[in-house]
Amino acid sequence: MIIKFLGSGPHNPIINKKGKNKRLQSSVILEYKKIKLMIDCTPNVTKQLKKVKPDYLLITHAHQDAAGGLKLIKNVKLLTTAKLYSELKKRYSVKHLEFMKLDKIHKINGLKIEYFKVTHAKDFTTYGYKISVGNKKIIYASDFKYIPKKNEKYFRNTDIAIVDGAGWTFTVFGHQSIKGFLELSKNWKIKKIYFTQIGRRVPNYEIAQKEIKKINPNANLAWDGLRIKI
Ligand SMILES: [Zn+2]
Repeated sequence: MIIKFLGSGPHNPIINKKGKNKRLQSSVILEYKKIKLMIDCTPNVTKQLKKVKPDYLLITHAHQDAAGGLKLIKNVKLLTTAKLYSELKKRYSVKHLEFMKLDKIHKINGLKIEYFKVTHAKDFTTYGYKISVGNKKIIYASDFKYIPKKNEKYFRNTDIAIVDGAGWTFTVFGHQSIKGFLELSKNWKIKKIYFTQIGRRVPNYEIAQKEIKKINPNANLAWDGLRIKI
């Protein structure tokens, strides 16, 4: 499987910087065999996808940075729960997309998708996703301030966890911080952590990366265009 970061930045994208510090809103595309699964659909989706055409779309929550590009895409199956679908429908035009109900454990050609709740913004259902192929497990949770205790199990022993890195030392409105997550997850045996949703409080890439490595050598900042093979 290939994971490609279409964006790794916050709600208001960071466009006045260069290279790895330039960040559009957070989103990834996973490619497994012939399936292309995108997570979140940002207002910059056209620029982020270029000619790539996802087959399925998962949405973490109904905020503008995660779902504001829904009107810009077509021919993709919106794979979501009835609850999140109704929240999306209220705010965005989704009628042109095929709705597919997301089961608690959902399988598509060898790809297993599970969703779990995280705490992000009041009145917004927010999900993290666990995606497995064979014995490999990936977590994608780009927006959360807290992980409910009962859902910590999803993160434990996972191969790759892509998580909210909006804050640096302290949490920011509705979001966790990089140092906060490193502390929280220190006994979770995550093989590789990638921070996304990286906010303006996080130092520039090289500086932040160095400091992160001192705390956990298996943790990294993501950047727009990063590809991971698993
Ligand atoms: Zn949000």
